[in-house]
Amino acid sequence: MSWRDNLINIEPYTAGEQPKSDDIIKLNANENPYPPAPAVRECIERFKADGLRLYPSMDAAPLRKAVAKRLNSLNGTALTSGNIFIGNGSDDVLATAFRAFFNSDKAILFPDVTYSFYPVWCELLKIPYKTPAVDDDFRIDVRDYFGENGGVVIPNPNAPTSIGVGLDFVKELVEHNPDSIVIIDEAYIDFGGESAVALTEKYENLLVTQTFSKSRSMAGMRIGMAIGSPELIRYMGAVKDSYNSYPLDKVQIEAGVASIDDEEYFKSTNAKVIATRERVTKELRALGFDIPDSGTNFLFAEHNSLSAKEIFLHLREKGIYIRYWDKPRISNRLRITIGTDEQMDRLLEAVKELV
Ligand SMILES: *Cc1c(COP(=O)(O)O)cnc(C)c1O
Repeated sequence: MSWRDNLINIEPYTAGEQPKSDDIIKLNANENPYPPAPAVRECIERFKADGLRLYPSMDAAPLRKAVAKRLNSLNGTALTSGNIFIGNGSDDVLATAFRAFFNSDKAILFPDVTYSFYPVWCELLKIPYKTPAVDDDFRIDVRDYFGENGGVVIPNPNAPTSIGVGLDFVKELVEHNPDSIVIIDEAYIDFGGESAVALTEKYENLLVTQTFSKSRSMAGMRIGMAIGSPELIRYMGAVKDSYNSYPLDKVQIEAGVASIDDEEYFKSTNAKVIATRERVTKELRALGFDIPDSGTNFLFAEHNSLSAKEIFLHLREKGIYIRYWDKPRISNRLRITIGTDEQMDRLLEAVKELV
């Protein structure tokens, strides 16, 4: 018997690597190539360090209010702060939701090809899970989620496939699961998807999560949120207050509000990412890649003759980092984050050397 017998035995989530050098074109973590809104920089420069003496708002109150107001103007909803939970990135929000909601003996369901953090939380929290297979075109069949379960989690659009579903899918999913909580992970929703936020007013068992990391260019700041009925939000708050009362610091809260307040900038950078995505999709298809229409800021690409690994290694050599997984079903696929036009041109040039 040794103390080592009692250590946790867990395989953690592995994120895209963060290179040390600035010369690297980094297209491996779905980060935004544009800086956060100018108001975010101004807010951080103006920030009064003296205030750090005191603890921040426990529930990021100013940010919840700003988020509710913005979502209302976008979705025609009547959400209040009581419908919003804020956490330290949506990974923290999702982990909190898994803890708060998935406490039955029944398996929760999520697709076999999806965000690879979900099984990690299940292992950590000892939540049983099953992973219905997406079809050969990586589409999710909603009927796979109609049976008995302990909960459902689906990203919309899905990652790493980049494929989105419509609101009819979400409605059908929730209506067939009146006894479970359904989480829709909308990490990429701002790049053209259909948000289910308004449906949270109708369905008390639906939780939607979003993040500042991708469409708001703030991955380094760690802000995520959940939108749902006040009851769901209260239970998440109780979990949060049982392990960390203050997940967001004062700078995060103020910078988050500043980002929300600049809707114009947000729209313009997202429009640029989408325009680049559409152009690069066409060009890569012309070079022999199969790419589903993306609703995100990344592409899920497979070449008709070259192996994913070969392309990945060649680009790496050229200082261009993309994502490749040696995993069943997706081992010949590459996930390529949409960068600036210049970065994507460098990627296209490097690919042409191989093709
Ligand atoms: C990036 C991502 C997240 C989490 O991002 P945070 O930086 O923690 O907000 C959650 N879900 C999916 C599908 C993602 O791709």
